[in-house]
Order: sequence, then structure tokens, then C-alpha cells
Amino acid sequence: MTDVLVVGAGPAGLAAAAAARRRGAMVRVIDSAERTGGQYWRHLPESRPSGRESVLHHQWGAYQSLRQALESDSGCTIDTETQVWAIERRADGSLRVNLAYGDVDGTRVTETVVPDRLVLATGAHDRALPVPGWTLPGVFTAGAAQAMAKGERIAVGDRVVVAGSGPFLFPVTASLGQAGARVVGVFEASRPSRMARHWLARPWELMGASHKVSELAGYVAHHLRGRVPYRTGFGVVEIHGTDRVEAVTVARLDADWAPVPGTERRIACDAVCLGHGFTPRLELAVAAGCELTDERFVRVDGEQRTSVDGVFAAGEITAIGGVDLALAEGEIAGWVAAGGRSADASVRAARRARDRFARFAERIATAHPIGASWSTWLQDDTIVCRCEEVDAGTLARVAESTASVGLRSLKLTTRAGLGLCQGRICGRSVEQLLSGSSGCAAFADGATTDRRPIAAPLRIGDLARAPQSTETSPHHIP
Ligand SMILES: Cc1cc2nc3c(=O)[nH]c(=O)nc-3n(C[C@H](O)[C@H](O)[C@H](O)COP(=O)(O)OP(=O)(O)OC[C@H]3O[C@@H](n4cnc5c(N)ncnc54)[C@H](O)[C@@H]3O)c2cc1C
Repeated sequence: MTDVLVVGAGPAGLAAAAAARRRGAMVRVIDSAERTGGQYWRHLPESRPSGRESVLHHQWGAYQSLRQALESDSGCTIDTETQVWAIERRADGSLRVNLAYGDVDGTRVTETVVPDRLVLATGAHDRALPVPGWTLPGVFTAGAAQAMAKGERIAVGDRVVVAGSGPFLFPVTASLGQAGARVVGVFEASRPSRMARHWLARPWELMGASHKVSELAGYVAHHLRGRVPYRTGFGVVEIHGTDRVEAVTVARLDADWAPVPGTERRIACDAVCLGHGFTPRLELAVAAGCELTDERFVRVDGEQRTSVDGVFAAGEITAIGGVDLALAEGEIAGWVAAGGRSADASVRAARRARDRFARFAERIATAHPIGASWSTWLQDDTIVCRCEEVDAGTLARVAESTASVGLRSLKLTTRAGLGLCQGRICGRSVEQLLSGSSGCAAFADGATTDRRPIAAPLRIGDLARAPQSTETSPHHIP
């Protein structure tokens, strides 16, 4: 019987686990979060349940049936609040997956697992580009605001501005409204012509994703009912306030996202949510040795195999495509990891869904790319790396004056990306500012900020203690 270890209990990981069980593998699912469901099905705490929770989520029934099937299955173990903090490669090609769980200040346990097959479904972080004033209290990433609204029923402010790019701004606006905030404006940086060109192309393909279209229509109706102003080709270019957010300046952006002089407008608000797309959580895939694509996602083949034997990837780490793509990829990854083939009839529907929603993902990527000139709204003293408080002026000066062309030495010179978050928040922005380029930066040393050998902070004491076991199969019976 094949043992499959799944990292991530979001839509992709849960679908992978269910498919691997269906194919007969013993499965263990690991997630650092308190509950399963990932970012999409982030739900209310068990101590404060709501009988109407289903209205807060799309496809809630799909989650409930995945969860119930896996939780009641003795062939599947789900370990939440368990962090994969590192993956090591041995000379013989096997992988050691290092876990930590238990109370950080008390009974922290480390464990090492050597799985037969590994499915990585670690999802994505939401990305917020730096803006002057974005370190003021009252500024949130759109994902954080969404997490608070969905997971705690807390609105981040009374009068909220939502800005950035991509369809994610819609559910965030809706959730803020449901949590009691008044959204005073949504500013989508992509220009209407680009959005129309890519969203309206090949309309027949959208038929296959009709529930996405009706989801979108629901959000538009919400906007209209709430009279929420929605402007395309606009962005927040400065955030104002003394002790906290008091207002923003929005401006028209050109096709590359450079602010158009003379179009600035000030809007009073007490909170701002910034969301400029998503960055895949690649640290474990990079540590496992998986190849990345030019766009910096995990490269997978039609069976969701990565370039590393026995390692599969699914969900937002392979492309930003939303829940349906994550579910379909997860199902195929789990099935094949457990010994099946992607051509098997059992995953035919998943295969079709993957093809359909991969095209949907392409639409999102082409309709909402980050503009090459976004950094023109920065000021010299705009903090870019929040942990180490490195500003845009410092990065620009170092990029200009240093003879170094390696990211590692540039990071050591500026300390950008070396703080607690290890570049999760600022990494891509720092790369772009240091390289002076707008797209995927390429440094002479081949380094990127996706490489984080220690994937999560760990105490020296926990490292020093011997792991609980070193050669366990992933199916963990406590
Ligand atoms: C903050 C945020 C909020 C979002 N909200 C919405 C929304 O409301 N609506 C919408 O349509 N889309 C939303 N999205 C997009 C959404 O992420 C995807 O559509 C979908 O959840 C992707 O599924 P996934 O399984 O690939 O990843 P995820 O759902 O992100 O699941 C990945 C899981 O992996 C776990 N993980 C990662 N690294 C480790 C590790 N080292 N050790 C242990 N566990 C680990 C994480 O805790 C997480 O639970 C959101 C994204 C983000 C980042």
C-alpha cells in the first residue's frame, strides 16, 4: 500500500487526500492552520459556530463532504496546527519532511517523516505592493481583511477603500459589507480595455465555468445594491494619516500603472485593503528541488508530477486559478500519487475541470498583470521591507551604486527580506526594485526570495532536541 503525505489542507490538499484514499493509499494530511479548508474555506471558530455558515462560503457543501469523508476515514490522519518547517533532500533522492507541532512554549515536538509520495498543496500568499503610507495602522492586505471577515466576522474599518487588481477584490468587498463595513470605493488598477480584451475573449470557454460567471454576477449585484463605486484603471498611490489611516489619494494609472499627473483625488476612509494578486508559497517545493516555470510556479506535467520523483504539486503553487482549479489538480495529484493514472476514468471529470479552469487562470493572469511602472508611485522614504524597515530610496541607491549583480549580496547589503517574514511579504517587490526590472527578476547568482530553507520560525531548542522519530511512514497513529 502506498503512503501519501499531503502538505496543505486547503481545497487542493483535501481533494488530493480524498482521491489518494479512493485509490487505496494510506494518507496523512498536514496543515499549520487550526482548521482544515485553507484560505477559501476559512471558517468561524468552533467555539462560535453559526447555523448559517454556508451563506458565507461558495461551494460549502463540497468542503463539508470532503471533510466528513476524510475525518471519518481510519486510513486518513489529519494533523492541523502542524508546521512543515523544512524539507531535506538526501543523496539517495529521498526526502525528509520535518514537522513541528504542540505548544511553542511547552510541549513542542519535532518529527521527521520520509514519505513514499509527497503532494505539495501549500497555496499562495496575497500580495500587496508598497504604497507611501502603507505601514500606517488601518492598512491591510485584502487577504487579511478577508480572513478577518470570514474567520472572525470582524470588519477592518467603518469606511474602507479596497484597491489593487484581480477578481479577488470582489469577494473581499462583499465580505467587508457582510461584516458591517461600508466600502467607499473599489479601485482596480487594470484598465477597462485590457480587462475587456481578456475577460470577453473566447466567450464559449466561460460557459464551462458558468458558476464562476454567476458568482461574479452576484458580486456585481452586491456592488450595485450597496452603491459601491468601482473604478477601473485607478489605484491608491498614497495613504495619509498621523496615527492611523485617515484618507487615501487615488489616481488614474496608465497602462503600465504609472500614475497620470492631475488625476489625483483624496478620499476619506479609516481602513485600506490592498490586493495586487497572489504569490505562490514555494519554499517547500524549492527545498524539495522542484523545477519552477518562467512565471515562477511549480512546474507540473499532466499528472501533476513535479520534476522530482515521487513529488506532486496542486493548487495555487502551480498557477493562480481559484478553488475549482485547485480541487481538480488536487484530485489528479492524489490519485496519481497513490498509484493511479491521470487517464483513468475515475478522474476524467477532474481532468476536464482542470483544463477548463486552467484557461480561466490564464484569463486572470493576462487581464490583471502587475504593471511595469508601479514603483513610480513610491517615494524615497516608502518602506518596502517592513521587517527590516528598508525604504525604496535605499534599495534604489544600492541597485544603482553597487557592482554586485547577485541577489544574495544585495540582500545582505540592504537587509531587505532578511527579517521575520523572510521576504514572504516584500520578496518579489524587493527583487524588482533591486534588479530595476519589472517582471521576474533574474540575478547573476540565480537566487530568488522563494528560497527559504527554514520555512517557518523555529526555536533553537526545538532544533537541538532530537526529532520524535526519523523514519516514520507518514501514516501516523498517535
Ligand atoms: C488570504 C487569502 C484569502 C483568500 N480568500 C479567498 C476567497 O475568499 N475567495 C476566493 O475565491 N479565493 C480566495 N483566495 C484564493 C484561494 O487561496 C484559492 O482559491 C484556494 O484556496 C486555493 O487552494 P489551495 O489548496 O491551493 O491553497 P490554500 O487554500 O491556500 O491552502 C494551502 C494550505 O497549505 C497550508 N500550508 C502552507 N504551507 C505550509 C507549511 N509549510 N506547513 C503546513 N501547512 C502549510 C496553509 O496553512 C493552507 O491551509 C484567498 C487567498 C488568500 C491568500
